[in-house]
Amino acid sequence: MRPFDYARASSPADAVRRYRPGTMYLGGGTNLVDLMRLGVARPEHLLDVSRLPLDAVEEVRGRLRVGAAVRNTDLAAHPLVRARYPMLARAVLTGASGQIRNMATVAGNLLQRTRCAYFQDVSRPCNKRRPGSGCPAIEGDHSNLAVLGHSGACVATHPSDMAVALAALEAEVHVTGPGGDRIVPMPGLHRLPGDTPERDTVLEPGDLVTAVELPPPPPGASLYRKVRERASFAFALVSVAAVLDVAADGTVAGCRIALGGLAHAPWRAERAERELIGRPATGGTFLDAAEAELEQARPLPRNAYKVPMARDLIVNTLEELAP
Ligand SMILES: Cc1cc2nc3c(=O)[nH]c(=O)nc-3n(C[C@H](O)[C@H](O)[C@H](O)COP(=O)(O)OP(=O)(O)OC[C@H]3O[C@@H](n4cnc5c(N)ncnc54)[C@H](O)[C@@H]3O)c2cc1C
Ligand code: SF4
Repeated sequence: MRPFDYARASSPADAVRRYRPGTMYLGGGTNLVDLMRLGVARPEHLLDVSRLPLDAVEEVRGRLRVGAAVRNTDLAAHPLVRARYPMLARAVLTGASGQIRNMATVAGNLLQRTRCAYFQDVSRPCNKRRPGSGCPAIEGDHSNLAVLGHSGACVATHPSDMAVALAALEAEVHVTGPGGDRIVPMPGLHRLPGDTPERDTVLEPGDLVTAVELPPPPPGASLYRKVRERASFAFALVSVAAVLDVAADGTVAGCRIALGGLAHAPWRAERAERELIGRPATGGTFLDAAEAELEQARPLPRNAYKVPMARDLIVNTLEELAP
């Protein structure tokens, strides 16, 4: 490990003031410290923001404001989250392990880096880690990687389960930084790789996430489902966060679908949503919707299995939500 200095910020403004090139903010450290050990992250200054007074979950004018330093365990266990946003609690609980969730913060979870094996191996080229060096995953092991929205520069997927639920719930990410305060809508925080896969998000250097704000839950029933290689301690091969509102006449009045494990960002399934509105809430409609969305998939030779897996997961999840 390379030498670095460590300091604790006393307030969000103090964190931004102390930020300088070579600084990285430290949440629970469950991702960043691993990447430092691997030599992937090489901060010179580690600025601990995990103990800032950003650890409350509170109701503000019908919305739920979740501080960036709230631990994943506390978020999933919070009575208001469990009562109003059970899909979010479920998504968080499908991630990592109890010990990791006890440490991991909301902001750190959203900003965790890809689990692409080449990204984590500094002996290999990787456009995300070293821009312009190449993407060995395209010809190599991409079995867990993207089928939607990828580029010739990077086929990585975003790993956060929480982010997928937040994309379906249309959460807002509150940010403060050298350029002032701003709000970034979800989806919209994470970007597709294009020619600049080194940038995971739209955040600028020094930007500090201070909170995530949830609007009132949309009408309807909601569910988060995740397919993974084993029952715990495993990232999503495919996941779905879905909200379905069915009218008295049995047609779909509203729906939200976000997909995980398929792209460099949580993927809002807008085509599927458009296909569903106004149609009978039946298996045939759900299949049409899933297929409409997945027409855009461009699987690689070793991850084509994700397309039928995503189709079936969307259909099964919507069937479970339908009355
Ligand atoms: C074995 C294992 C299995 C896992 N399985 C899953 C899984 O199935 N699903 C899942 O979603 N996750 C999974 N995870 C990942 C885990 O959820 C993340 O490591 C964790 O959420 C990161 O949170 P943290 O607070 O520890 O972040 P840190 O490691 O502290 O930071 C992560 C990133 O966020 C930045 N950051 C932190 N706070 C802020 C802030 N306030 N503003 C701006 N930047 C900030 C840091 O600079 C860093 O770049 C797994 C991890 C492990 C080790
Ligand atoms: S998929 Fe992205 S993260 Fe993985 S090796 Fe290629 S450029 Fe790097």
